[in-house]
Amino acid sequence: MSEPIPFASSTTAKPSAHDISLARRGCPVSDLKDRLRRVGLRPTRQRISLGWLLFAKGDRHITAEMLYEESMRARVPVSLATVYNTLHQFTEAGLLRQLAVDGSKSYFDTNTTEHHHFFLEGEEELMDAPAGISVGELPEPPAGMEIARVDVIVRLRRVSPAA
Ligand SMILES: [Zn+2]
Repeated sequence: MSEPIPFASSTTAKPSAHDISLARRGCPVSDLKDRLRRVGLRPTRQRISLGWLLFAKGDRHITAEMLYEESMRARVPVSLATVYNTLHQFTEAGLLRQLAVDGSKSYFDTNTTEHHHFFLEGEEELMDAPAGISVGELPEPPAGMEIARVDVIVRLRRVSPAA
């Protein structure tokens, strides 16, 4: 019966994280600013506007062109080049995950946790696949390298109506 008491020896009381997350819930824009600063990105107006479009609607999969169109509709004055740059900066900072679906098109996923995807060919729609994909045998990576991540994209097409 000599279980160590987990908190008895801890002198670093850190009650702040919880308090901060409660405080932030009230103001999504300051949440976004904090989030950008935490990953080392200056919260410029363009980053905040684009971040708002990206992150305010739950998890989504979006291409640069789709985000550009959204920003036009939302009257956010940005160029397509800025949208590309911002998406890549967000990805490098770990706020987005980039998925190369085919040679010409990258999707950016606001859910950066490990998960796999369905891609509906022809309609260019990328969706999260339900859990349950397991990748059994992976090849041995070359010397000095390790597998960072496995992305599975299961390609779908609509079933043509029964003849
Ligand atoms: Zn996803």
